[in-house]
Amino acid sequence: MHLPRHRAFALCVASMFVLAVHAAGDPLPPPVMDAARLRLALEKLRVTGTALYVAAHPDDENTAMLTWLANGVKVRTGYLAMTRGDGGQNLIGPDVGDRLGVIRTQELLAARRIDDAEQFFTRAIDFGFSKNPEETLEIWGHDILADVVRVIRTLRPDVIVTRFAPDSTAGHGHHTASAMLAEEAYAAAADPARFPDQIAQGLKPWKAKRLVWNAYRFSAAAAPDTTPGRLHVDLGAYDPLIGRSFTELAGESRSMHKSQGFGAAERRGAWENTFENKFGDPATREVFDGVDLTWKRIPGGAKVDALLARALKELDPERPQAILPVLFQARDEMAKLPDDPIVRHHRELLADVIRSASGLWVEAIAERPLVSPGSTVRVALSVLDRTGVGTRMSAISVSPGGPQREAHDLALAPNTAWAETVSVEVRFDAPLTGPYWLAAPPVRGAATVADPTRIGEPESPPAMRARVELVMLGKPFAIETPVVYRWVDPVQGERYRTLEIAPPIRMKFDREVRLAATSGPANGSGRTRLGVVVSPADMALRGTLSLAVPEKWSVKPESYTLGLKPGASDTTVFFDVEPGTSATEDHAAAGTVRAVFDAMGRKYNTRVVELDYAHIPLQTMQPPAVARVVHAQVRSTARNVGYVMGSGDAGPDALRELGAAVTLLVDGDVESGDLSRFDVIVIGVRAYNTRPRLRALQPRLMSYVANGGRLVVQYQTADNALRDRIGPYPMTVSRDRVTVEQAEMRTLIPDHPLLTTPNRIEPGDFDGWVQERGLYFANPWDAQYQAVLSANDPNEPERKGSLLYAKYGKGTFVYTGLAFFRQLPAGVPGAWRLFANLVSPER
Ligand SMILES: [Zn+2]
Repeated sequence: MHLPRHRAFALCVASMFVLAVHAAGDPLPPPVMDAARLRLALEKLRVTGTALYVAAHPDDENTAMLTWLANGVKVRTGYLAMTRGDGGQNLIGPDVGDRLGVIRTQELLAARRIDDAEQFFTRAIDFGFSKNPEETLEIWGHDILADVVRVIRTLRPDVIVTRFAPDSTAGHGHHTASAMLAEEAYAAAADPARFPDQIAQGLKPWKAKRLVWNAYRFSAAAAPDTTPGRLHVDLGAYDPLIGRSFTELAGESRSMHKSQGFGAAERRGAWENTFENKFGDPATREVFDGVDLTWKRIPGGAKVDALLARALKELDPERPQAILPVLFQARDEMAKLPDDPIVRHHRELLADVIRSASGLWVEAIAERPLVSPGSTVRVALSVLDRTGVGTRMSAISVSPGGPQREAHDLALAPNTAWAETVSVEVRFDAPLTGPYWLAAPPVRGAATVADPTRIGEPESPPAMRARVELVMLGKPFAIETPVVYRWVDPVQGERYRTLEIAPPIRMKFDREVRLAATSGPANGSGRTRLGVVVSPADMALRGTLSLAVPEKWSVKPESYTLGLKPGASDTTVFFDVEPGTSATEDHAAAGTVRAVFDAMGRKYNTRVVELDYAHIPLQTMQPPAVARVVHAQVRSTARNVGYVMGSGDAGPDALRELGAAVTLLVDGDVESGDLSRFDVIVIGVRAYNTRPRLRALQPRLMSYVANGGRLVVQYQTADNALRDRIGPYPMTVSRDRVTVEQAEMRTLIPDHPLLTTPNRIEPGDFDGWVQERGLYFANPWDAQYQAVLSANDPNEPERKGSLLYAKYGKGTFVYTGLAFFRQLPAGVPGAWRLFANLVSPER
C-alpha cells in the first residue's frame, strides 16, 4: 500500500536516461501502486512545490506535518535530520552507537514509506544529550552548515520548516542547533560566495520563498495557539481515496521509531498546527502563499499538466493500463523541460506511475546474500507483464560485472514470467559494502564522507543492479532494480535483503570485550585467551590468521595457517594475549586487538555484523574485526548470577567474563523459581519498562533481598507507574542525567563497600568513560538509601542519585543510573571495576 520514495540524489544518474530508478531502502523489489495510490501519485505529479522540514534526530519530525504536506498539499516533502540518532538508547535490542544509527536510519526510511516524504541527513553525529547549542555546534563543526546548504541547493525547497525554535525552549542542544543551522543555511544557500565548491560541483544557489517555524503542540490537551500573526492549518483532514486521515498515517509512520519505543496513537479528527513566519516573504493565508504550485512555473510545463489532468480523468481503477498512452505523452513532454530538481523528481515518479499502471513486475534475485570479490554469483532475472499490455524486451543487463545483451525484441506473454539466470563476476577489487558514512572513522562530531556528492543521502546505493529495457506500446521504457536476496521466514513470510559484497573469510572474536585481570579468581596472570571464530565463505581460501596487538603486548601463537572451503563448518582458534604494561602501575589500561587474515599478501580484517529487526530490512555492516581487552585489577566475588534482561545490554557477557555463571531469568523463574541459589540478581536496563509483569513480581525480588540476596537494578526510564515500585523503600526514577562523560565524580561516603569491595575505586577509574556518565538517576529517594556518588554537568546542581545502596533484611539493594550499558562494551577499565563491586556482595 505504500508509495515508493523518490530520492533527490539518485538524480545525478538521470543523465544515463534511466527511466525508473528504484531507490535503495524501498520494500524490495519495487512495489506496484494500487489504484488509489496511483491516483494520488497522479495528483502529486500535478503539483510542483517542494517543502523541507528540518530537525535534529530520528523522531523529532512532526509526522502529521510531513503527511499533510506530502499527501494533503501534495508537494514534494523532505525531512532533513541532522543526525542518525546513534547516541540514543535502544529499547528493542543491545545495539548502540553506530549500529543504532543504522537501525534508526532504516526506521526513518520505513516511516517515510508510510508518510511519503523523503529522508535526508547531514554528517553530524549524535554524540549524546547536549544541554546547549554552542557545545553542539562546536562538536559538529562548520561542515554541518555546508551539509544543510547542500541539501537546500539540491532539493530547492519553496518553503523550509523548522521543528524547533533557535533558543532554549528546544530543550536539547541538538534541537536548538538544528534551527540555528536551518536559519543560517536559508541565507547561505542563496549566496554563491558561500560554499563555492558546491557550485563548482553543479549545484546552484537557491533562495527559498520563506522559512517558517512549526510551533510546538505536543499534546492534545494543549490550548489553541492564539499568538498573533501565526498561520493556522488543520492537519487532520480525512482522505477518502485511501480511507485514512493524515494524522492516522502520521501515527503509523511515527510508530516505526520502535528502537525508541515511540509507538503512537493514530489521531482522528481536526488537528490544528501553527506556523510562525521567520524569514522571507511572510505568508498570510497559506504556507505556500505566493508560490506557484502548478506546472506553469516551469517554461513549457503547461502541456505536461494538460496530459496529467487527462490521465487523472481517464484513470479507470479496473484498467489502469488504459492511460499508458497519455502517460507516455506526458513523459515525452516532461523530457523536453529544463533540468530542474522538481522536474527530475517528477520524471522518476511518472516512471513509477507508468510501471505501476502497467502492472509490470521485475526482479533480480541472487543465489546468496553475501558475495566475495573475485567470486561468481548466479542472479535469477524475471520479468512479468501482468496486465498483458503488450510488452517486448529489447535488452537486459546486470552491473557491475554481469552480462549486457540484446533480448531480440522478445514479446512477453500475458501474465507469464520470462525468466533467466545469469552469472555475474564480482570484480576482484570490488569495494566492500556497508553504510557509506561509516566507511572511514569520524572526525570529532562529523562522519567522514569521501565523495561529497553523497552527503545528504540516507543510505548507500545497492551493490549491483539489474536493468531491463522494454518497449511498451511502441515506447522505450527501462526498469532498474537492485539485485537482492530473498528467503521465506516461517513467521514473517517473504523477506528480502540487499546483496552485499563481503570478504571470502568471515571472522569474529568469540567475545567483543575480554578481561585480562591482573588479580582475582578469573585470571590472575594478566593474560587472557581470545577465541577467533572463522567461517568459510563462498570461495576456497588459504592463509594465515594472526592478531595485531598494541605495542609491548605479546601474543601466542604468532599465527595459524588455515585452509577454508565453502560449506565447511566454523573453526575457532585461540590466542593467548598478554598486555605489556604492568597493571599495578596503571590499572586503567585497555587495548584493541585486531584479527588479520593474510591470504598471499591480501589482508582481510573486517567482520560481518547483521542487524535483524522485524520492522526494517536486514542491515549488514562490516566493521573491523576487533576485541577490546581490559587490562585491570578487577576482582569479583559474583559466582552465580540471575539476570533479568530488559531491552538488551552487555551485562551477562561482562559477568561471564568476571567468572560468574549467568542464568537469564524469564518471568516464570522470578515468579516461582528458586532465587536463593543466586548470590546476585541483576536487572537489565529498562526491564521494568519492557516487562510489565516484573512489577507485579516485585515482592518475590524483595523477599530474595530480605533473605540475604543482592539485587542490582540498572537504569529504568522515568515512568510514573514505577514510582516507589522498584526498591525496598520509596524511590523515584527521574530524568536527572550527567551527559559530560568527563564530569567530576565525587565520593559522598568514603569507604562505602560499593567503592572498596573488592576493588578500591580511585579517581582514575572515572577516566576514559564514553558518551555520558549516566541517565535516569533516582530523585527523590527515602532516607533508608545511601547515595554514594555525586556529579553534575556544568552549571547544573549536584546530582546524587546515580548510585543508591540500601540494606533490607539480610540483603542489599543497589540502583544505578551509571551508563554501564555503554562503558562495559567499550571496555572502560574503571567501569568494569565498579560494576564488579556492584555485583560482589560484601560478606
Ligand atoms: Zn530530538
